[in-house]
Amino acid sequence: MTDTSTDARHWIDLEDRFAAHNYHPLDVVLTRGEGIWVWDVEGKKYLDFLSAYSAVNQGHNHPKIIKAVIDQLQTLSLTSRAFRNDRFGPFCEKLSKLSGYDSVLMMNTGAEAVETAIKAARKWGYRVKGVPDGKAKIITFTENFHGRTTTIVGFSCDPVARDQYGPFTPGFVTAEYNNLESTAAAFDENVVAVLIEPIQGEAGVIVPSAEFMQGVRKLCDEHNALLICDEIQSGLGRAGHFFAHTMFGICADAVTIGKALSGGVYPVSAFLAKKEIMDVFTPGSHGSTYGGNPVACAAAEAALDVLVDQNLCERSKELGEWLANEMRAIDSPHVKEIRAAGLWIGVELHESAGGARKFCEALERAGMLCKETHTHTIRFAPPLVIEKADLEWALGHIRKVLTTG
Ligand SMILES: *Cc1c(COP(=O)(O)O)cnc(C)c1O
Repeated sequence: MTDTSTDARHWIDLEDRFAAHNYHPLDVVLTRGEGIWVWDVEGKKYLDFLSAYSAVNQGHNHPKIIKAVIDQLQTLSLTSRAFRNDRFGPFCEKLSKLSGYDSVLMMNTGAEAVETAIKAARKWGYRVKGVPDGKAKIITFTENFHGRTTTIVGFSCDPVARDQYGPFTPGFVTAEYNNLESTAAAFDENVVAVLIEPIQGEAGVIVPSAEFMQGVRKLCDEHNALLICDEIQSGLGRAGHFFAHTMFGICADAVTIGKALSGGVYPVSAFLAKKEIMDVFTPGSHGSTYGGNPVACAAAEAALDVLVDQNLCERSKELGEWLANEMRAIDSPHVKEIRAAGLWIGVELHESAGGARKFCEALERAGMLCKETHTHTIRFAPPLVIEKADLEWALGHIRKVLTTG
């Protein structure tokens, strides 16, 4: 008799039958994780080179984060914001001091943090800037990814994410990413904010020029509009900095963070802003039942401690520069362009390579998990706690797959 309980097919079939088909995952069924490693139900070990889209920057099951969460779960898990709890204030202080932003608004998912940013920008536009009611505009960019709510997909340029979810929320205009003239042309007196990813992750690790980002900052200043950076994927060390936008020598008026904010153990996100922006929110004007709950605060506090104590921003920068250089030295007929910032590398393949998916599948067979984005790009994003020896091992497989695949 065969033991079907260890056959991945069993779980894949259940998922196919009973779960919505809104993803196209690799056929690997994971059951355990530790640090940079994950194991599947058949006992095979893999190096995680995606880190749950950069949520697991601190590595899987980081003992400090897990302990903080378990301790908090055994003490107090949810009060709602109808009452206060003793984790919320201290956590907000820590995040404010670490980030340099005066004030914190905690939510759960990244999309909610972006929705919060949109609400803040609009209210700021009406109350502070003096835009006529209902006229506020926010500039967004081609190839953006900011989440999945109906408002957010309304300004997506990706037909798969957007089609047949309308009618959409008005008040958004699209400028071309990394094109300052296009951005300048999108401004008028009713623009309240620019919402931008300082590096576009889902689009395939697109790093704009410093001139562009500095130019956007200047346009925002000239037009009295807020610069809001979505750092949900690019922030918290992934690009080699606490916030990716600071590498361009600019400062955003507000940012959104999520993903690695909890080190992958709990959905925690936040909108961070200067006081005069955050003060547009008054009691009842925005909220979330789980936002800022004690478990979220405990997880995020520990996850931020790990980021600082283990120097993850610096590690990402140094190891990322080394890895990108090694990858650029690979002589592959398939590679069109390699883009990198910290331990975040997009390898765009020529169309003749036949799509990135089969390269990801070849890496899976070699014991490395990564995922294609936008058909022709492989995105590499290992946990930032990774050691150089493990990167060297991975590089060997990447080299083999890119030169023979
Ligand atoms: C992942 C992501 C989001 C959405 O976060 P969710 O937690 O999936 O809602 C928003 N913006 C960026 C840049 C992201 O990478």
